[in-house]
Amino acid sequence: MAKVVVLGAGVSGHTATSYLQKHLSKDHEIIVVAPNANYQWIPSNIWIGAGRMKRDQVIFPLAPLYKKKGVTFKQAKALTFHPEGDANHDKGYVTIEYVAGDQKGQQEIVEYDFLVNGTGPKLNFEATEGLRPGHNNTVSVCSYTHAEEAWSFLHEVIQEMKKGVKKTFLIGTGHPTATCQGAAFEYILNVDYEIKKRGLEDFAEVVWISNEYELGDFGMGGAFIKNSGFITSTKVFTESYFQERNIQWIKRAGVKKVEDGKVYYETLDGKEHTKEFDFAMLIPRIFRSRV
Ligand SMILES: Cc1cc2nc3c(=O)[nH]c(=O)nc-3n(C[C@H](O)[C@H](O)[C@H](O)COP(=O)(O)OP(=O)(O)OC[C@H]3O[C@@H](n4cnc5c(N)ncnc54)[C@H](O)[C@@H]3O)c2cc1C
Repeated sequence: MAKVVVLGAGVSGHTATSYLQKHLSKDHEIIVVAPNANYQWIPSNIWIGAGRMKRDQVIFPLAPLYKKKGVTFKQAKALTFHPEGDANHDKGYVTIEYVAGDQKGQQEIVEYDFLVNGTGPKLNFEATEGLRPGHNNTVSVCSYTHAEEAWSFLHEVIQEMKKGVKKTFLIGTGHPTATCQGAAFEYILNVDYEIKKRGLEDFAEVVWISNEYELGDFGMGGAFIKNSGFITSTKVFTESYFQERNIQWIKRAGVKKVEDGKVYYETLDGKEHTKEFDFAMLIPRIFRSRV
């Protein structure tokens, strides 16, 4: 009998757990360690942030599902890894700390035969001075709670536009090395759609700001789209689409600092610039591992 410990219950951890549960016989034990009570389908946060979906549509509670599937769920965070064990433990182990319930604050040692680390990226807002969801007119759609705040602020800004007040929207990357441009791209199109749907385009300046070398790079050097026999690069596709929607763009830009309604950024040619805004969603720098 093997004991498999999965750290994290996000896209990767939960998917790994589902496959393990499906393919391993009941003789084996599966333990999931994750601090979150709910699974969240992060890509749908771009809809929550535009007021088109509610949190209940993108989350579900993990404990009842894991109970039904015979998976042990510990709502806790991993603190340390010990892959080779130590003088007291022949097997590898992790130390964990419970974050909820009666055991909150308690630490425990969890041994394993196999370990899956699916703890995801760390959102490093601190890497950009002044960038913090809910501060300096900036929001985030990186989690469903952030996205709910984003919609609340967007809704407020839209109400002001309805009274004839002009607003500038700045959406893209908030650090020279931020990735996940695709999420910001989807969100700017959603925000732009919500503005135009209400006939408010004359009161909106919508601007894309990105560390991409070319539009449509999306952090992977771009791609090609085959449609109706034509092959189009994502650069041409994105430029055409932005042009058509009257979305302006700033590329090769590394955002360094955010103040109340103002970003400071440097372009690849070494020049320093600023851009004022009323509403911004800027993706932070991301570290690849949390533990
Ligand atoms: C708005 C948005 C849209 C996106 N759209 C797409 C898309 O269309 N396509 C696409 O491929 N990608 C998309 N992404 C990226 C995608 O969501 C991520 O790549 C994916 O969620 C990463 O999965 P993960 O399991 O590595 O991390 P996560 O989904 O973040 O899960 C990490 C898990 O680890 C847990 N954890 C954290 N710390 C610890 C710890 N110390 N101990 C134990 N557990 C811990 C967390 O609570 C969570 O359960 C999007 C991202 C965003 C923000």
